[in-house]
This record gives sequence, structure tokens and C-alpha cells, in this order.
Amino acid sequence: MTTVRHTDGIEVTLPDGRVVQADAAAPAGDVNVLSHAHGDHLYDEPPASLVCSELTAALAGVRRETAPEPATHPDVELLNAGHVPGSRAALVTCTTATGETTRVLYTGDVSVRDRFYLEGFEPVSADVLVVEATYGSPEYVFRPQAELEAEIVDWFEDTADRPAICMGYSFGRAQEIQRLAARAGRSRLLVSDAIADLDAVIERHLDVRFGAERYGESTTLEAGDVLVLPGQTNHLAFVERLRESTGALKAGFSGWAVNSSFRYRGDYDETFVLSDHCDHSELLEVVRGVDPEQVYVTHGSVDEFAGYLTAETSYPAQSLQRNQTTLGDF
Ligand SMILES: [Zn+2]
Repeated sequence: MTTVRHTDGIEVTLPDGRVVQADAAAPAGDVNVLSHAHGDHLYDEPPASLVCSELTAALAGVRRETAPEPATHPDVELLNAGHVPGSRAALVTCTTATGETTRVLYTGDVSVRDRFYLEGFEPVSADVLVVEATYGSPEYVFRPQAELEAEIVDWFEDTADRPAICMGYSFGRAQEIQRLAARAGRSRLLVSDAIADLDAVIERHLDVRFGAERYGESTTLEAGDVLVLPGQTNHLAFVERLRESTGALKAGFSGWAVNSSFRYRGDYDETFVLSDHCDHSELLEVVRGVDPEQVYVTHGSVDEFAGYLTAETSYPAQSLQRNQTTLGDF
């Protein structure tokens, strides 16, 4: 029997009794896995052994005081998750003394789209699937990646007579915005220190150069410049002052931009759909590709996506609520 719970991260108890803990703040499993280096998946203190990619370990070292030694485990296969640089899904294989084998796949955050320097996730078969559902609601379907990117490049070209202030997660989206601005030939790329530090680590591990300068108090924002800032700075007073004093356009980049409220809530001049997650139809594609006997849904629209799977497909699905005590076991 395999049990999956959302406690501190995702806790999988395998048929042989071992506990695999993924993306925990205080990892304490028999096997500990880190899918990627986004803050809501990262440890506070790294455990003695943490199964993750080398790039995730290096990026974790930028975001936390201590970097882990990236470990491997004979029962854990790390698969490209296509979410952000270094991100991996974990395929855990457990063979009991009686010779019965169970395969559990934890996607972490996942995207099937090939884009920039990322290769999309390719589903593999498993008995139990633990899948994210950030965009698990059916209204979230994204257009083809090439169209989304072309729209952004066109906007950078059309507005090159003004500076642009672009908001996106500092890890993942911020780097993609830089690549699109460069593709449009914008004159100068400026980024915050946090983004510059992440750029440097990614450049060392992947075949990509961002070519951005650090934005500081002495930097003057000019026409043609593209300044990329972490999304959480959006409502800070200095951004508004900068926008007013330079005539900059402020743009937001997110999968949530499918919904028009994203633009008004963020007070953006322009918003673009750009996501590092599967949309609703791609999540279905992942489930069908894995073809599991049981699906657990975590992160985001968990009830909605689990309900959709139960109603519209043949896959038994259950949403994972944090610290929920009564769960069906597989
Ligand atoms: Zn993430």
C-alpha cells in the first residue's frame, strides 16, 4: 500500500514502509527530494542528503544560506519537469520482498512546453501520480507557445521608444522576459540584484547568456530600456515613481493573465500570458500519459482538478489538503 499526504511538503509512504518526502521545509524522510528551487518548495535547512539536480542545488544556494550537496538515490529517477531551470519530477520505484513493484511519480511544478532553454516534461507510466494543479481550472488554456512569445516580442518592438518595467517571478519568468526583450532587440536589459544573481547561476549551467546589467539607484531608465523586476515589488512606491518620471510602460507576465482581472489588480499597462506550468488541457495530457491507477492532486485548484478527473475521466483522483488526516490509500 502506498500512502500520499500533504504534510511538510509531499510525504509518500511506500509499500516497504520507507517515507519519501518531497519539497519539505524541514525534510526528514528516509529519502528527501527537492523538485526545484522556488521558495515555496525549498527547505529552510538542507538535510544530510537531498535528491535534486545540480542546478537546483546551486540555485538553492543563492536563495538559502546553505546549499545542499545534490544526491542521487537508486530508487529515485529524476525526470526533466520543464518548469524552471533545474526542475525535476521524481519517479520513485519500490519493490517489496514479495517482488511487487510500485512506481510513484511526483511531478513537482511541471510544464510540457519546450521553450527557451527548457525541454518540456515527457510523461512516463506510473501506478500513482502526484500532480500539481496550479491551472487545474478548465478556463485556463494557453495558446501555443510560439504565439504567446511572438505577441510579447511584437510589443517590445512596438514600444521601443519608451522604457518598459516588466514584472515576473525572479526565478523562471524573469529570465524568459529577458530572452524575449533581447529577441526584440531592445537596447539595454536591466535587472534587480536578486535576478542578476540567479541569471549568473543559470548561465553557468545552461547554454544561455542573458546579458543584463544590474539596476541600481544611479541607473537612469531611458527609452528602449527593459527593466525586469521581481513580481512582489509591483506595488512598491518606487516602481510607481519610476513609471511616472520616465514614462515607462509597466507589463505583467503570468498564466493568470488569461483572466482580465490580473491586469487591473496589478495596475499594468499591458499583460501577457506567459507560464511555467501546464494549462488545464496539458495537465490532462500528463495524467493520460502517465496512465496511473490513482491520482493525487496538489498545489492550486486541487479540488477542481480532482473533481474534473473523477467526473470526466476514468482516473480515480483525490485532492491533497495540507495535514488532512483521512485519506484513501492506494
Ligand atoms: Zn515552481
